[in-house]
Amino acid sequence: MIVRSFLTYFLLTLGLAASTLPAMAQSASLAKNVIIFMGDGTGLSSLNAASIYGYNKPQALFIQSLPGIALSDTSTATQWVTDGGAGATAIATGVKTSNGILSQSASAIKDQQDGEILKTFFEHAREHGLSTGAVSNDDRQGVTNALTAAFFAHNNNRGKSGEIFEEMLAPKSGLPGLDVAISPGRSDVFAQVKAMGHDSLAEMKAHGYAFTDSITELKKIDQSRTKVIMMTDDLQMDLKTGVDDAIARLSRNPKGFVLVVFSDCHTGKARTSLSRIVEMDNIMREVAANHKQDTLLLWTADHSYDLRIKGEGLTETLKKNEGKKIISAVSLEDEHTAEEVPVMAIGPGSERVHGFISNTEVFHILMQAPGWEQATTVVAGGTR
Ligand SMILES: [Zn+2]
Repeated sequence: MIVRSFLTYFLLTLGLAASTLPAMAQSASLAKNVIIFMGDGTGLSSLNAASIYGYNKPQALFIQSLPGIALSDTSTATQWVTDGGAGATAIATGVKTSNGILSQSASAIKDQQDGEILKTFFEHAREHGLSTGAVSNDDRQGVTNALTAAFFAHNNNRGKSGEIFEEMLAPKSGLPGLDVAISPGRSDVFAQVKAMGHDSLAEMKAHGYAFTDSITELKKIDQSRTKVIMMTDDLQMDLKTGVDDAIARLSRNPKGFVLVVFSDCHTGKARTSLSRIVEMDNIMREVAANHKQDTLLLWTADHSYDLRIKGEGLTETLKKNEGKKIISAVSLEDEHTAEEVPVMAIGPGSERVHGFISNTEVFHILMQAPGWEQATTVVAGGTR
């Protein structure tokens, strides 16, 4: 009996200690800023290949050294295999929707019927007085690509770049538009605005934005201009220059900022996809070196896809080869895949990134980092 009651006491104490840990961690430090790195398609198999491609060894990416790591289910409200619209909506709003939809509920029917408007992490940030920004290397849709757009736009069709662009400038919520937007995609997006009978240059001006179509010119726009759009036709736009410029401008807000950085690491070319992972990983490494004390930096993917190194009997997979040669042993099938994707984080709030989670949980991790939402439930394996 005594042994049993002692055991009960011991287990209760353990349980209490576990339940107070997240609260202690939360009060210890809150994030002033949050930066989300969205690596399109960056599942585990892509990270494995990118590390070998970039460094000739496994687990050499910066993100593979981060203290917070979780594996996130990416299924949608209605499908086992997600697209970027539903995947990013879950992360941006904490609610699963259907493929093709942007931050509207699953009652939406693509291109036919609106669902309920889902409040996004960026909209919460706006209400708390923070600045907002998006940087993307998407070659066609730019910052109106679903992975960044889900944070600031609500549309029953992720392809409606013109409408998404206008919502970026003037949200239907009445909250201010995005402060900083930097990406390629100028011709395609502006053509869609024009097709709606509108003039993108006039609209940007009317909403107080400085605009340029060149990343070199962006640097010349006075840093005191905090509402800035750079959209270019230069597909080689340097992502790092864009991220540095966005952070410099957004940092002028003493209340903090939220920023989403997108890299298209899901292309039909293995070399391009893997190079982009290494590139964005290096950007995150540098940003973390300067900002990890007061900024939650989190990398995740909308979905994985079938890029992987295969073939135990192949000479191409011998370790003695130069890492870059692994490209010849990479198998790539373009379809999205259903398995979990990694979520990796550093900075205040990253202690909540652990275990097998839903992609909707990423939203709560983002919301809890600055203290906008409390971790309410303690369950085995972590909070919520
Ligand atoms: Zn994707």
